[in-house]
Amino acid sequence: MQQQLIERDKKVNWHPYTQMKTACPIPITKAEGAYIYDADGRRYIDAVSSWWVTLHGHAHPYIAQKVSEQLYLLEQVIFAGFTHPNAIELSERLLNLLPINQQKVFYTDNGSTAIEVALKICIQYHYNLGKPKNKILAFKNAYHGDTFGAMSVSGRGAWTSPFAGQLFEVIFIDAPTSENIEMTRQLLNEHSEEAVCMIYEPLIQGAGGMLMHKADDLSLLMRFCKSKNVLLIQDEVFVGFGRTGKLFAVDHLTEVPDIMCFSKGLTGGTLPLGITTCTQEIFEAFYADDKSKALFHGHSFTASPLACAAALASLDLLLEESTQQKIKNIVCLHQAFIKKIKNHPKLKEVRQMGTVLALECKTINGTSYFSDMHQTLYAYFLEKGILLRPLGNIIYLVPPYCVSEEDLNEIYKVILQALELL
Ligand SMILES: *Cc1c(COP(=O)(O)O)cnc(C)c1O
Repeated sequence: MQQQLIERDKKVNWHPYTQMKTACPIPITKAEGAYIYDADGRRYIDAVSSWWVTLHGHAHPYIAQKVSEQLYLLEQVIFAGFTHPNAIELSERLLNLLPINQQKVFYTDNGSTAIEVALKICIQYHYNLGKPKNKILAFKNAYHGDTFGAMSVSGRGAWTSPFAGQLFEVIFIDAPTSENIEMTRQLLNEHSEEAVCMIYEPLIQGAGGMLMHKADDLSLLMRFCKSKNVLLIQDEVFVGFGRTGKLFAVDHLTEVPDIMCFSKGLTGGTLPLGITTCTQEIFEAFYADDKSKALFHGHSFTASPLACAAALASLDLLLEESTQQKIKNIVCLHQAFIKKIKNHPKLKEVRQMGTVLALECKTINGTSYFSDMHQTLYAYFLEKGILLRPLGNIIYLVPPYCVSEEDLNEIYKVILQALELL
């Protein structure tokens, strides 16, 4: 069965971020909790939450129940000219958990589109006020998605080079440190007149290699931007919903952004959904008798009632005391593991923020995604029954919150064994 699926897949499917000539995707036919199973019944611990989306475990019965009930009640309705209770309740509940300045919710269906909407809102905000601007600030090594706007504000590299001519110009600044903050302040001073907004992944730059910066440094940078009227887009697509140890990354900061983006863990990883939230002030720049001031953006599956049902169910689970305890346990176990390995001769740096742990291995051929280290480690972990997808020479863990202590210890053990290979 497994072999048949592999062959059929090879004939028809083109996989993401995959060189199809050398790849051999593994067919998965069922999943439960922290485990995924192939067609032959082989089990893998999903240590990356299936690309950072799964929060409470796979095929969670509570979420499945809620989505299934919704499926029989209202599966889909156009969200222009119509609305539905799930979208209303989800917006109300989410806004209640976010900083008080977040007042309106715009729905899409993935992280990249949540970013596109955020960028379009910022650009049109200035346009609607009669003061169009055209410079966007973003962090070096950022990742905000794969559509053109999101790609433009992401770090440039081998992935983006075929499109270099089509990407709009962005001013890239260093992620904040106490050392570079003065330089960044000067740069901001130079560009603040034309600056539309600054977009950033707060605290953890995920796809860039789980790079981390301090909450205090980010708060300071945000304060500079505010003093210069540069709008802030906080991309919590990855870090939202508990990954940093708090509900949202913004809960670590002393400043609040103007716009926030969510996806990935939003539905507990069950269905695709994206959300962009904004302040009342921004919303009001679009609120007018003049129809041309509206935000002309939408997707067929905007605010899918099914995806909203999954998000509501995931929120129920996330806010349970037992889930908060599970998150704390993961943080503690990571910390204990760090104590054990922080002076490991094969490691250049160990980083942790909440439930996210990253081990940067020493390398001679740089930190390229295309380095062999990624392939060697990936294959080794799979052979040991663990799904880990190193980013080049960076081994990282983003476990679902249901992961057991036993499984985490197994993952740590296999990582130590893997380091011996390098
Ligand atoms: C994954 C990711 C995105 C893009 O989300 P998709 O749903 O994959 O389009 C945007 N921003 C961050 C920080 C991400 O990690």
